[in-house]
Amino acid sequence: MGSKGVKAIVVDDAGCAVRSPKNADPFKEANKAFVAGLRKHGVTGQGLPTYGTNVLTNVINEAGAYPTKNFMWGRFDTCAKISGETQAETENTRGGEGSATHGCHRGCVIRCSGTYYDKDGHYLTKQPEYETVWAHGGNCGIDDLDAIAMLDRLDDDYGLDTIEMGATIGVAMEAGIAKFGDAQAAINLVKEVGKGTPLGRILGNGAAVTGRVFGIERVPVVKGQAMPAYDPRGIQGIGVTYATTTQGADHTAGYAVTANVLGVGGSVNPLKPEGQIELSRNLQIATAAIDSTGMCLFIAFAILDQPDTFQALLDLLGSFTGQKLTGDDVVGLGKSILKMEREFNQKAGFTKEMDRLPGYFKKEKLPPHDVIFMVKDEDLDQVFNW
Ligand code: SF4
Repeated sequence: MGSKGVKAIVVDDAGCAVRSPKNADPFKEANKAFVAGLRKHGVTGQGLPTYGTNVLTNVINEAGAYPTKNFMWGRFDTCAKISGETQAETENTRGGEGSATHGCHRGCVIRCSGTYYDKDGHYLTKQPEYETVWAHGGNCGIDDLDAIAMLDRLDDDYGLDTIEMGATIGVAMEAGIAKFGDAQAAINLVKEVGKGTPLGRILGNGAAVTGRVFGIERVPVVKGQAMPAYDPRGIQGIGVTYATTTQGADHTAGYAVTANVLGVGGSVNPLKPEGQIELSRNLQIATAAIDSTGMCLFIAFAILDQPDTFQALLDLLGSFTGQKLTGDDVVGLGKSILKMEREFNQKAGFTKEMDRLPGYFKKEKLPPHDVIFMVKDEDLDQVFNW
């Protein structure tokens, strides 16, 4: 789209009817069971609806996998100042009770979205997500929620991805362009991008380009895309997903934080390679299938943990489309999508050597657990070998 100058595609739904389920009564029944399943799970029924996605800051920091100052440490000493708990309290205090969470669309029962207000109670930005708070926060040594919210606002106004931009500023800080922890300098750098100055044009091209221009070796990218808020040494399974997903370092493509840290859908040791290939593979298959349904990915917590909620999802999709769906059908759907994506990448020139993390993750130990990324290259090559 970019090469053809296409900025957006607008679909005008004027005059269109809302689609109806093929089998209305079974659909209603399945919907009831599905909603009950989401409400009873700890993550989708309590954590996300109370604090939003930033509930993860304290959790991942405690696990020692919170990438701090351009992935130098796994813990950020002052992370409590930017945690979901602090953010929700700030939002409710400034905007009134209930500001911390709401649905990003009318039908959502999880409701993890929110609104961030400035010190005077004026709207500043949509509630910054966990990854945004991390990217512009801990990753840059910044523990000021108002500054992070302003960076989020600027990113949105300029059309920048918050993870990519936060990672880019982290690399720029390591290059000495600004000091870690200097929130005003970070804001100024993002404004450079908005203005299109020579420095801004370098930063606006992302972390990989910024690292190359300033000669920085420690650049957290895969296939040119910046890593999100989980250090792959502290959560080895997410490193497998970062390395192998067709989209570059994308946590959502196979969110192995589940069994590694959250105890959702099983349990593996986050600091060891054992079990991580299979976990990432299964999650990538399931995610591709869920994404294709149009469901929000956050339902995955409940359907991974609760067989009855997974069954309710199958019934929901089946009664809507008029097809009978089984768990095997969902797996087959996920595999076929991943196969297409892989074929697309191969035709575009991607090789297995690109299914790797940057070398420093295999050499530099991450405190506090002093661990390197230990999954072997030959094992990474088996992720799509099902
Ligand atoms: S649809 Fe998903 S992202 Fe949006 S509020 Fe609901 S749970 Fe959050």
